[in-house]
Amino acid sequence: MIFGWLKKRRRRRWLEESFDPGWERAIRQNVAHYRLLNEDEQKRLQRLIQVFVREKHWEGCDGLELTGAMQATIAAQACLLLLEIEHDYYRMLRTILVYPSGYFVRGRVPGGAEVVEGDLPVLGQAHFRGPVILSWQHVLDGGRRPFEGRNLVYHEFAHKLDMKDGVVDGTPVIRDRGQFRRYVEVMSREFDQLRAGRSSGLLREYGATNPGEFFAVATEVFFERPISLRRLHPEVYEVLRDFYRQETAARLERAGYGRA
Ligand SMILES: [Zn+2]
Repeated sequence: MIFGWLKKRRRRRWLEESFDPGWERAIRQNVAHYRLLNEDEQKRLQRLIQVFVREKHWEGCDGLELTGAMQATIAAQACLLLLEIEHDYYRMLRTILVYPSGYFVRGRVPGGAEVVEGDLPVLGQAHFRGPVILSWQHVLDGGRRPFEGRNLVYHEFAHKLDMKDGVVDGTPVIRDRGQFRRYVEVMSREFDQLRAGRSSGLLREYGATNPGEFFAVATEVFFERPISLRRLHPEVYEVLRDFYRQETAARLERAGYGRA
């Protein structure tokens, strides 16, 4: 596999460089969750960012001038999801498009009983076998406010993890059969409860759109309000913890954010 070999060599070269201090400044300023990580986690996240930023194709849209600091801010949030799992830097994703703010797409979305059609405002999208599109303004809002339970980058990249097995069904790749069964059982049950309006209010309603959105919405909450998730939906917390292999609730408690 000549491409695999070239790719490895390139990655090794990038990883030999020291981490850009400008990138680190940007991440400290824009990605509040980074400050909750211990030193080892921060170092490993930096290595993921070094490869991710360089390996992807980036485009600023609508006149947005993309800088390294902006790329690092996005990469830090995208790669946080990968920190402890087996991955290949979102291999199926090649291009990341960044708009200054929200943008419009032609299409239709279900809005309660009716379907809204026309130019729809969106903040971000993750296309199947296609690009991730993000609004820079919302990337910043999400990154700087770490405990709201809303984060655009976690949301779109959770979709990318979901798509890795070729279907968008809210179930990412889980190799262990027991863990997989448990995941499907818990997430289906909680999805049904959200659809039926019998959920706690912590997982926002948008997650009831379909199982793919449920996983993306639950991922946002798992990283941003894990202590509440563990209290109100202990099984959702547990299956996401087992998938991401991160104890986000304990991490926040250690950092003194006992109520997030
Ligand atoms: Zn979504």
